[in-house]
Amino acid sequence: MRVITHTLGCRVNHYESQMIRERLSDLPGTGEVHVVNTCAVTSLAARKGRKLIRKLRREHPRALIVAVGCQATDSPEELRAAGADLVVSNRDKARIREVISAYLERTGYRSGGYVPLAEERISRDTEQIRANLKVQDGCSVACTFCKTWQVRGPLRSKPPAVAREEAECLAAAGHPELVVCGINLAQYGEDIPGRPTLADLLRELLRVPGVRIRLSSLNPEGVTEELVALFAEEPRLCPYLHVPLQSGDDRVLSRMGRPYTAAEYRERVGKFLEDVPKATFGADVMVGFPGEDEAAFRRTYKLLEELKPLRLHIFPFSSRPGTPAAAFPDRTPSAVKRERVRVLEELGRSLSRRVREKFLGQVLRPVLEERADGMWRGHAENYIIVALSSAGHGRGTILPVRLTEVRESFCVGVMEDNQDL
Ligand code: SF4
Repeated sequence: MRVITHTLGCRVNHYESQMIRERLSDLPGTGEVHVVNTCAVTSLAARKGRKLIRKLRREHPRALIVAVGCQATDSPEELRAAGADLVVSNRDKARIREVISAYLERTGYRSGGYVPLAEERISRDTEQIRANLKVQDGCSVACTFCKTWQVRGPLRSKPPAVAREEAECLAAAGHPELVVCGINLAQYGEDIPGRPTLADLLRELLRVPGVRIRLSSLNPEGVTEELVALFAEEPRLCPYLHVPLQSGDDRVLSRMGRPYTAAEYRERVGKFLEDVPKATFGADVMVGFPGEDEAAFRRTYKLLEELKPLRLHIFPFSSRPGTPAAAFPDRTPSAVKRERVRVLEELGRSLSRRVREKFLGQVLRPVLEERADGMWRGHAENYIIVALSSAGHGRGTILPVRLTEVRESFCVGVMEDNQDL
């Protein structure tokens, strides 16, 4: 059968879509299967899932439409009503082949438990040159606004040696960079023998030659001294961390159930920026959480202004049914939320420019990812997007480039002759 995947949501979902493609690569039979890997993080993500399934149903009336993932776990009935033939929860995601086969052969399928992460593997990433490598799933922090921890199952970590074998495979497939991802990487290792730390995992991955390693989103409690010291000494670890802040106000953080204070965030991210050469960072911020007054918002603003993220993702609080925050009083009016989003977006743009200006004249090493209008573009080690004109190099090459100009959302540079830089 011809299998087409459609992915919404985070890097973990993208990794799992690759796993699904590999698991369904030789599914016997004729016809088409559309697998929609859904997300439940916001109401908007859930709406997109329903809309996509309705569209696929309309456009491919004879295809088998399978919904999997977080929204499929959270609200299966909604997705069936939208037109999905089969809804597969996160618990059975790694066994999707057995579930689909049982559906097609009408033999019935009994849901099992979550498979250990050691059994979730991919051999390459057919959609991204910077391949995702999932090493962790589940979260026990239970933030009051979050649906994810409710639908992702128990904490599961991939043992370092297993992750290294997978990384060797991805490197052999030609990926120059691996992006290590999980649902809450700060909890990596808590559930497996010996309780390896995230730094232990990275040391193991660094044994794979020929690739550089990037961490995807990491909560502040995961930015430990051990981790920062490793980043400071190891040039193959990309010096960029995406550290969700959510709020710079301690009262709001505590109502969110986030296990850190604004001062701890400042200290940990500040140390990373100070100790690691060429380091930059990104942050997520949620505005308009119940009880966020003007003073609380100003504290968030000031903290961001002080730390200067390269990237800022701003989300207005959206109430998710089934989460504690959905019942919290002191709602922020929509117009105030919109204004706060606008103010932070403006701040984010100006801070990003200032961070990038700091690197003018310096040499960074972007991966060539996509080509348009005669220019290559790609992410440098510290996540600055660099554009350059270069002939004779292919996608996935990492090149030394001296930055010459800062544009709206990226920088322009010229290739250095000295390839050893
Ligand atoms: S840390 Fe909080 S926001 Fe992140 S997955 Fe866990 S509960 Fe959700």
